[in-house]
Amino acid sequence: MGNRTFAIIKPDAVRNGNTGKIYDRILQADFKILAAKLLKLTKAQAEGFYAVHKQRPFYEELIDFMSSGACMILALEKDNAVSSWRESIGATNPEEAAKGTIRKDFATNVQKNAVHGSDSDENAEKEIGFFFTESELIANQ
Ligand code: ADP
Ligand code: MG
Repeated sequence: MGNRTFAIIKPDAVRNGNTGKIYDRILQADFKILAAKLLKLTKAQAEGFYAVHKQRPFYEELIDFMSSGACMILALEKDNAVSSWRESIGATNPEEAAKGTIRKDFATNVQKNAVHGSDSDENAEKEIGFFFTESELIANQ
C-alpha cells in the first residue's frame, strides 16, 4: 500500500467537461483511485475544508466558487502520493505552472485552477476524512 492524497476536480473543470481528461492524467500517473464522489459542496463544507485560508483576502470568493457547482472528490493512492500529485497538478497560478501540468492545461486562472491537492501527508488524511469514511475507500478493501 502506498501513501494517500486527496484531490478535487474543481467546479470550473467539471463545468468545462474536463473531468474525464483529468481522470486520464490521474491514471497515466499511476495513481490508484480509492474512492470518488461527485458532490456539490455546501457553503459550510467549503468553509470547513478551506478553514486554514480564513484570513486570506480571497477566502470569501473561494468559498463561493467551490460551492458553485459539482466537484469530483477523490482519494488517491501511490508511493509519495502527496508530492507526486502536487507535481502532476503544477503551481497554484496556472501562469506559473510547468508545461504538461494539469493546471497549465486546464485552469482558467489562479482561483479557478481546475484541481486541488493536499500539501502534506497529515493534511491528506484530514481531507480524506473530511469527505470519506474508511469503508468508502473501497479499492482498499
Ligand atoms: P494550492 O491549491 O495550490 O494548495 P493554496 O492552498 O494557497 O493553493 O490556495 C487554495 C486555493 O485558493 C487555490 O487552489 C485557489 O483556488 C485559491 N487561491 C489561492 N491563491 C489565490 C489568489 N491569489 N487569488 C484567488 N484565489 C486564490
Ligand atoms: Mg493548498
